[in-house]
Parts: sequence; structure tokens; C-alpha cells
Amino acid sequence: MQYFIDVIIPVPLKKLFTYSITISEADFLKIGMRVAVPFGKSKIYTGIVAKIHTVPPLAYEAKEIHQILDDVPIVTESQLKLWQWISSYYMCTLGDIMRAALPSAFILESETILSKNKTKTIDESILKDDEFLVFEALQYQTSLKIHDIMNILDKKNVLPVIKRLIEKEAIFLEEEVYEKYKPKLVRYVKLHSNFTSEKALQNLLESLSRAPKQHLVVMTLFMLSSKTKKPIKVSELTEASKASSAIVKSLIDKGILEEYYIQTDRVQYDGAENESSKQLNEYQLKALEEIKESFASHNVTLLHGVTSSGKTEVYVKLIEETINKGKQVLYLLPEIALTTQLITRLQNYFGEQVSVFHSKYSSNERVEVWNNVLEGKAKAKIVLGARSSIFLPFTNLGLIIVDEEHEQSFKQFDPAPRYHARDTAIVLANIWQTNVLLGSATPSLESYFNAKQNKYGFVEINKRYNNVLMPDIELVDIKEARKKKRMKGHFSERLVLEMTETLEEGHQIILFQNRRGFSPVVECATCGNSPQCPNCDVSLTYHQYRNQLRCHYCGYVMAMLRECMACGSHELDRKGLGTEQIEAEVKILFPGRKVSRMDLDTTRGKYGYEKIITAFEQQEVDILVGTQMLTKGLDFRNVKLVGVMNADSMLNFPDFRAHERSFQLLLQVAGRAGRTDIRGKVLIQTYNPYHNILQQVSTNNYNEMFNEQINDRYNFKYPPVYKQIKITLKHKDYNKVDSASNWLAKSLRNVFDSYVLGPESPPVSRIRNQFHKNILIKIPKKQSLSKTKEAIIKINNSFSSIKDFRSVRVILNVDNF
Ligand code: ADP
Ligand code: ZN
Ligand code: ZN
Repeated sequence: MQYFIDVIIPVPLKKLFTYSITISEADFLKIGMRVAVPFGKSKIYTGIVAKIHTVPPLAYEAKEIHQILDDVPIVTESQLKLWQWISSYYMCTLGDIMRAALPSAFILESETILSKNKTKTIDESILKDDEFLVFEALQYQTSLKIHDIMNILDKKNVLPVIKRLIEKEAIFLEEEVYEKYKPKLVRYVKLHSNFTSEKALQNLLESLSRAPKQHLVVMTLFMLSSKTKKPIKVSELTEASKASSAIVKSLIDKGILEEYYIQTDRVQYDGAENESSKQLNEYQLKALEEIKESFASHNVTLLHGVTSSGKTEVYVKLIEETINKGKQVLYLLPEIALTTQLITRLQNYFGEQVSVFHSKYSSNERVEVWNNVLEGKAKAKIVLGARSSIFLPFTNLGLIIVDEEHEQSFKQFDPAPRYHARDTAIVLANIWQTNVLLGSATPSLESYFNAKQNKYGFVEINKRYNNVLMPDIELVDIKEARKKKRMKGHFSERLVLEMTETLEEGHQIILFQNRRGFSPVVECATCGNSPQCPNCDVSLTYHQYRNQLRCHYCGYVMAMLRECMACGSHELDRKGLGTEQIEAEVKILFPGRKVSRMDLDTTRGKYGYEKIITAFEQQEVDILVGTQMLTKGLDFRNVKLVGVMNADSMLNFPDFRAHERSFQLLLQVAGRAGRTDIRGKVLIQTYNPYHNILQQVSTNNYNEMFNEQINDRYNFKYPPVYKQIKITLKHKDYNKVDSASNWLAKSLRNVFDSYVLGPESPPVSRIRNQFHKNILIKIPKKQSLSKTKEAIIKINNSFSSIKDFRSVRVILNVDNF
């Protein structure tokens, strides 16, 4: 009998590939193990075994595998079930999912791997645009493959760019098949076995009497090891004996000490004893009981609790109960910024049982968490993670918590799989026959709608913990203030007054502005021209700190202009407002006060967030200026005042969710004020204080917002009332993308009629030199989703068989955000 396996390989191809295996391989292999397989002319990929069978492929002759890479499966069958669901629901390939799901260290391949040359500082100005993009990408990722670079530059022919980067010594190449995961080893020392007898040790110490430092090291080691049975780290020895590592090394070289290594895991908990969890107040207790009751009849329950109502402490109780039953807990968070505070909080209660998993962790660290979860280790009982942690190989999952469930960053935007982690978590919980708790002070319309329809259970907490009042929210009319010349730069007199008082009382302030940089538009006062990104259809943002103009879409950078490119005038106005400018103005208004800024530009690097958050927590900073990053669930003790610099730009954003989002963002940022005993104050500056959303924010009226918005969604056939799929077409030639999108829209209309909208150019219609067109398909609740997708796939297949359109990229985004 001939045996075959179907293998998932990490490329976006629709079908699985079949390879032939020997009988003994068939005997050994299990679903979920990795195999190295040949692919195409000369490539080698790591694949995951999805099926073992005896049916030869029809269309081609099955090749043999190169080798088996695992002794036991690294991907579980429940994971593969989840992958299947994601693949069909989000219309992507299993290969896409494999790439997103596995830590890259698990995916060996013969492709070129590029890393940044850390030994050299590169003057970024010598890099051309495309070189800079690759170089910049390497700041976030330790290495890139050719494939990634093709994606970043959106072209196939990337070798010349890479070649130039190598010549400039900005990056280097590695080309080999190798296991990237190297466990971190810790160095330990012990006395060589020649000296372990008392007599031998005595002699040794005597012989060292003329070398007092070495003598001391040996004595210290002897004392340390008689105190504890545990192995002694080199670092402990040098610390205890105050000796340099050179002395320890010389003792090792002489054969007096012996070194050895033990593998340790990276993410270590260095806290002291665990605390017991907090005693819940009556509202929290009631919520906890209601959640448990609700879980009996609903897999998913939504907890709507106002900011600072103590939701986290309720989660803690549920986590406790789950791990006491020996089960695993997944705690999903939208953003890394948040984990910083929460890790400490959860570690206080659960110590080493908490593992953290997110994209800023290195591949090695992620492999460790993966293995701990797979092996059901005690140290991975509770996984705290961003959206990709739904891909972990749980073996005994007992609860999923989705905190700040309304956050849009739960949805992956690019590349595929374009999954929503909250919704995928619900499917994951179904696979495990367990419960999901969604928590938020400002639930998404989707979840609230589902709760109203009794699809989800629903529990509320309306009181802040400790009976602290909800912050007092005041709208400040800056149109009026400008007219009356009552503005200092971008600060109304009201805001300056409140800030002054707050600082005098010794409290802290958060200022919120949703754009980074100094000013989003530079405009010539003479001719009105403003510098545009050469690759995208947007104006460049001025960044004062580096005196540069930057594109926030593609990363393009140029030096700030001295004169207008069109007319040569020297009068260049800066329009619009970014965080950098606020920071600069605050420093002038409040000299001597410590100001800090938290946005994408200041939080690069693994500990970027941590430093800023800690400094603010420690009250080393009086005023923190930031983007939406600082609105999310952070718990600062001493913030009394929150200022929103300008609420209008987000309200006017061209998106059907703009109002919902503005409401959420404003209430969340307001929720950072007055979390302990004094009532917080929030000032929202706006040109339009009578806007419904702002009124609803100032009265904290979620229900009114919900009713009004859901009404709009009914009227305009938007989610959550209708489902929708967005199709984006991209090409560097406008005419091509135009005719391709017209063809596609027309074919879709033949089937879905008026439920097809577009094609339409998005507000930014060209990004990285690619023109974009969008088509939107609306799907009524009663229409079969799977049939709809089948029809779309069929049309898409005909589309790709048209020669002229073959080079047009088509992106399907289900439940787009
Ligand atoms: P939320 O997640 O709803 O915004 P948190 O869980 O962060 O609220 O709680 C707000 C603050 O109140 C936190 O500092 C928390 O430690 C404190 N807190 C909440 N519940 C309790 C409790 N039962 N006992 C003591 N402190 C609590
Ligand atoms: Zn000009
Ligand atoms: Zn650009």
C-alpha cells in the first residue's frame, strides 16, 4: 500500500499539497507534526501534516518528503479545527493561518533570511525610499524573508534593493536551513569534583592563600552551596563574592571550578509571595453571580461595567475558579500597552502561573510559551495575550476573557488571515465547550446588539469601585473661544485654568490628541501647495523632533522643506495638530513641569510603553500627552484631569463606525480621570458642542448612543444588522484597477444586485504606489453566509482567469473594520 500525507505549507495557495511517505513514516507520523518538504523547483518548506491517507493525487505525481521534524505533534487537532473555521469564515488559506499562528522559529525554510546589521549605525538619510522601508521594518522584526520584503515593497523584484542595503552594510543575509529557536541557557558553577572532599578543599584554600580574591570566591561558593541545595548561578557567585567574572573564569580555566548550563525559560516572574485576591464589593459580587448564572445558559456573556467599576477583579475570581479546576485560561487584551500594568496585577495574585504572549516578544520567547501551553505546564495556566494568542495550542481550556472587547485592534487588518480575535475566541471556546466573558465600559454595537437579542448573556456594573463618582465631563466650545480670542495656541482658557489648578493640587494630567507628529499638513501660504507623499495620496506630516516630513502610510521620510516646492515661497504654514505640537505648547505654558509623550513614535521597542507608563505611575511626569494608546484600560492613581484637545476630527472621519468609535474613545479616555477617591474632571474641546455624540459622552449615556447608532445601521444596512465583506483591489496602474474593479462589481451585481456598493476609491486612494478600489457586499441576516461566500469565490475565480486582471491583487475582508 502506498501512503500519502496532505500538508499545509505557509504559502497563500488554496489547496493542500500531497506528498508520498514510506510505510514506516506513515506509522510514525501524526497529524500536527512538522515535515520538511520540497516545493517548486528548489524550495524547502516546513509543512504541517493535516491528513494521512492512501489516495494518490490526481493532477500531479506526489514528491517524497525530506524529513520529519517532530517526535510529537506541535499543532493539536482542536487547533486545526479552528484553522479550518478561520479559513472558511475569513476566506483565506490554511497557509496564511499557519504563518500567523506558529512562531516563526517553528517554520524552517530555505529562503533567504535578512537581519539588521546591529554592529553599525546607519544614517537613514543615505537610504532610498524602498531601502528605508525594508530597513524600518527590520526595526520591528528581527529578520525578514525575501517573501516579506516583496510584501512590504509590494513588488516581486526586490533583490536589487536588498543588494543595495547589503552594500550599505545596513543588513546582512543568512541562507541556511536551521532551527531558529535556541533555548536560553543560564551558566552555573560548582566546585570541581577533585575538591569536594573536606581534605581536598582545605588544601585548595591553603594553596590559594596568596590569591585572596580567588580564595574569597571559593569560600563564597562553599558557603552558598552549603546553605542551599540549589545550583549556583555564576551571577549569584560574582554578586555574593563581589568578584569580577574574570576571576571566576580563571578559576574555571585552572580546573578548580566547573561550569555547566541549565535551560531556563525567558519570561520569568521575580515577585515575592502571592497576594490573595480582593474581596469583591456588593456590585462586583452580584455581577460575578450573574455571570456564572448566565454561563449556564449562554456560552458568551457580555459584562458592561463602567470604567473603574472593578471588572478586572471580577475576572480574577473567575480565573481563580477555573485554574482551581485544573484548566487553562486565555485572557485577551487588545494592546500591548495594557499588558504592562495587567501582568503585574495578575502576577500578584497568580505568580508564576501567568504567561504573556504577544508580537513584541521574540520568536524564542513565543516558542517557550507555545510549548508550555501545549504541555499544559503550570506556568502557562493563564495566558495573557494580544490577538494572536488565540492560536496557542491549548490542551485544557476552561475560560476565555476578552477585555476591552470593543477595541478595533482585535481585528487583523493586514495580511491575511483578517480575523477578529474576539469572534474567533468565541469559536475557540465552542471547540472547548467552554465560556467567553466579553468585558467593556463601552461595548461594541455588535456585542451589545447580540446581548439585546439574547444571543449573549448580559451583566452590568453601574457603579465605580469605592463609589467614586464618574468624572465630570465638560464640553468647551473652541469656536466661541477663538472668536473671543480666548485661546493660547490650541489651549482654551478653561483648559489652562483647570490644568493650573490640577497641578497646584499635586495631581496629574492626561492630554489626548489622536494624531502623532507635529502637524499633519504643511501648506504654502502663497500658493496653497502642500507636500505630498510620492508613493501615497496623502500629505506628509511634519515631525519637529527630527525636522522631517513623514508619510504615516508608507514610512516615506524627507527633510523638512525650506521653501515651497511649487512656487519657492518661504512662508510655509503648518496646519492641523499632532501630539508633538501639544507637547511643545504645554512645555511653554507650564515651564518647569515634566511633560512626556506616548504615541507610536515614542513607544518603539519592547519596553517603550513600559518606561513611559511606569514614569507616569511613579509620578515622575506631571502631564502625559498621547494618542489613543493611552485611552485603553490603564489604571493611574493620581490623574485628576483629562483634556481632549480636539474631538472633531474623529467625529468627521469617513467611516460608518466613526460615531460609535468616538463615543468609545472619549469615554475611555475620560475614564482615566479620578479613579481613586477624588472626582475626575474631563474637558473636551470642540467646534461642535451640540453634536449628539458629544452630548451622549458628557452624560455618559450609552443607551442613547446605542439606540441612535443602531437605528442608523438599520437604515443604511450596516453591521451588526447586515454582515459585510469588503473587497479591495490594488494595482500600480490606475486604469487597470479601475476596469478590473468595474468588471468585478458588475459580476457581483448579477448575483447580489443592489447589495453591492462601489467600486469606490477610498479616501486615501493610493498607498505605496498602489491604487486602491473598494467594493462592498452587504449580506442580510437571512441570506446564507456560506452560499454568499461560495458565489464570491466563484466570481473571483473567473476574475483571476482573465489575463488582463491577473496582476491585480484582490483582498477579501470579511466583517471589515
Ligand atoms: P475596570 O477594569 O472596571 O476599569 P479595575 O478592575 O481596574 O476597574 O478597578 C479599578 C480600581 O479599583 C483598581 O485600582 C482596583 O485595584 C480597585 N478595585 C476594584 N475592585 C476592588 C476590590 N474589590 N477591592 C479593592 N480594590 C478594588
Ligand atoms: Zn507655494
Ligand atoms: Zn506614503
